[in-house]
Amino acid sequence: MIYSRRQESITMSLKLYNTLTRKKEVFRPHKGNTVTLYTCGPTVYNFVHIGNLRTYVFEDFLKRTLLAQGWRVTHVMNITDVGHLTDDADDGEDKVERAAAKQQMSAWQLSAFYTKAFEHDIAQLNITPPMVWCKATDYIQEQVKLIQTLEKKGVAYRLEDGIYFDTSQFPSYGRLARLDMKGLKAGARIEVAQGKRNPTDFALWKLSTPQGTHPEPIGKSHPKTKRQMEWPSPWGVGFPGWHIECSAMSMALLKLPIDIHCGGIDHIPVHHTNEIAQSEAATGKQFVRVWMHGAFLTIKKGKMAKSEGNFLTLSTLQDQGFDPLSYRYLLTTAHYRKALDFSNQSLEAAQESYRHLKNSLRQRGIFKTKTTKRPSSKAKKQWMAFLNAINDDLNIPEAMAVVWQSVRMTAIDLPSLKWLIEEMDHILGLDLTKPDHEAIPEDIQQMVARREQARRDKQWTRADELRRLIEHSGYRIEDSSTGARVTFTGRPHSTA
Ligand SMILES: [Zn+2]
Repeated sequence: MIYSRRQESITMSLKLYNTLTRKKEVFRPHKGNTVTLYTCGPTVYNFVHIGNLRTYVFEDFLKRTLLAQGWRVTHVMNITDVGHLTDDADDGEDKVERAAAKQQMSAWQLSAFYTKAFEHDIAQLNITPPMVWCKATDYIQEQVKLIQTLEKKGVAYRLEDGIYFDTSQFPSYGRLARLDMKGLKAGARIEVAQGKRNPTDFALWKLSTPQGTHPEPIGKSHPKTKRQMEWPSPWGVGFPGWHIECSAMSMALLKLPIDIHCGGIDHIPVHHTNEIAQSEAATGKQFVRVWMHGAFLTIKKGKMAKSEGNFLTLSTLQDQGFDPLSYRYLLTTAHYRKALDFSNQSLEAAQESYRHLKNSLRQRGIFKTKTTKRPSSKAKKQWMAFLNAINDDLNIPEAMAVVWQSVRMTAIDLPSLKWLIEEMDHILGLDLTKPDHEAIPEDIQQMVARREQARRDKQWTRADELRRLIEHSGYRIEDSSTGARVTFTGRPHSTA
């Protein structure tokens, strides 16, 4: 066991790339054995696109990797159901309110509908749900209190349309994104002209404004507005800005400093930068220890966005005949910090490889083998190689190479291979030890069709022969009023 001691000491250290320091750092939870993890969730005004889903899959690989170290993970994810404006510059409309008006639904109905759709999508992709989902509209009081604290500390100020954060009062503002504050100030006269003290200042609370009129002054009872989602506050009726919700909810649910906070790279310059400013200005404590960001999924090297006309959802892919886990497989082919260019061809190739991998596992007899508690040293060695790749800032492509290598290693006995694949799949989430129900091979499908025909022709002997052939190949066939249902059992039946 000389190799494993050395290897285990290597795998003891998980390294993660921290956007804050721009370095890979050895990671350990701040306190005890529990990692606190906050991941920015969706704004529920539409279906999420597969580019958004790439970020959630990366976060899932991260969470499963943390669990594989033997730690517990307290994972919180927010649902933005109010306050996310169409423009980061705090102009524009609330995305949820605007979409609700367009679809003739109430804002509440709309956000409930897309929250469900999101939960469905992530389940399809084997993304483990967070321990706590929190909705921005359930934490209005926490957000109001946080803004009051910021006001007391002298870092918030009032404008005609809301309460703003004064970024010049927070000396390390922009550190996460390495923002050039002087350059920004020189280049942005418009925002300052609108009344903001600094171009980077952002809204904490927006006042509801009836179209074409000004909001009521502070303290006056609320104006008649066209908004559905609005609440009374010390500043007048209104609604929270987008950034404040993540600060308020993460601090309400997790102790500071939070171990890891994640999102897409597009969150670095504004959303996460502002979360840090609000949280640290209010508490005087470090908000988050490690910031992690997933790179974009691009299409023809461009960004995926509704405005670009290349907005693909998971159900679009399913309608085209793709299995959601083929998409998850595709995401294992690139490191999370590298852009991944999506095309139907790349997804087809991923689906092909994924099926090939599951077929190889089936051919090796994985689905009908029992696992072992005492894996062979060869299997353990492969597990260490896999962990070393994962622990190097989630190098999933390298870890997948170890998976493929292991499947081909005939020197690994079957129960040990089953153990190994199960361990790896706890992190990969690709259902590698489950028989594939979806992909029925072409030759089996043809046999099923021929059997159906034989039954229609009342050729019972022929139909029985075909049933035996199908079962012998490891498939079960059940007849129902809507036709034959075929499932893969992995167990050849020799009923002949
Ligand atoms: Zn957030």
